[in-house]
Amino acid sequence: MPGPVRSLLAPLAQVVTGRECVGCARPGFDLCQGCRTPLRRGARRADPTPCPPGLPPTYAATAYEGPVREAVVALKERGRTGLLQPLADALTASVAATVLDRTTTPRSLLLVPVPSSPDAARSRDTAATLDLARTAARGLCAVGLPARCWPVVRAVRRRADQTGLTSQGRAENLAGSMRASAGRRFPAGYDVVIVDDVVTTGATLAEAARALRACGIEVIGCAVVAATARRHHLQPG
Ligand SMILES: [Zn+2]
Repeated sequence: MPGPVRSLLAPLAQVVTGRECVGCARPGFDLCQGCRTPLRRGARRADPTPCPPGLPPTYAATAYEGPVREAVVALKERGRTGLLQPLADALTASVAATVLDRTTTPRSLLLVPVPSSPDAARSRDTAATLDLARTAARGLCAVGLPARCWPVVRAVRRRADQTGLTSQGRAENLAGSMRASAGRRFPAGYDVVIVDDVVTTGATLAEAARALRACGIEVIGCAVVAATARRHHLQPG
């Protein structure tokens, strides 16, 4: 479409849809094609440095920066549900990378979403992670890998704000803060992957893995949409 026509139609698109891209403010989109590009570069291993003890192999679809960061924040804090599908597609790729890097034959998957602190202000945060896990499970089923969301880990006590804490401080703040309630209901023949939106120090994912292991459930890996670049070896795509 010629540029002048596009600029003429832009206000119209915003009137019709009431949306603008969270990355570049382009009207008519929740996240425009250009701002989705980082989500499609292919998932890679993204273990944090330093890596917390007990953290399973961790994969991310992209770096937590720019439009991706804006999209995650808008979904979780402002309820922009139009961002769910593109972010879940990236999580689907990240889970698929977790499975493909293993030498064993893939089995059906249980995706365990990481819970937020048990605090009313975080309820939207938890709901967004649950929605991401459910939507990613559907995406995996669509490409022939049976998967379902299995939200068995819950937060059992409040945690202090993680902002500004060191890796060690985050690990201490989170220790024992989650519990898995799988009990005897753990279905045989599944592989378990922990999923979340973002990995920073890995302390939250490691605590979820610990809670599952305490119930005798081994985790094959962790998958997230994005990894904070400062602490990871994730290379730009
Ligand atoms: Zn954009």
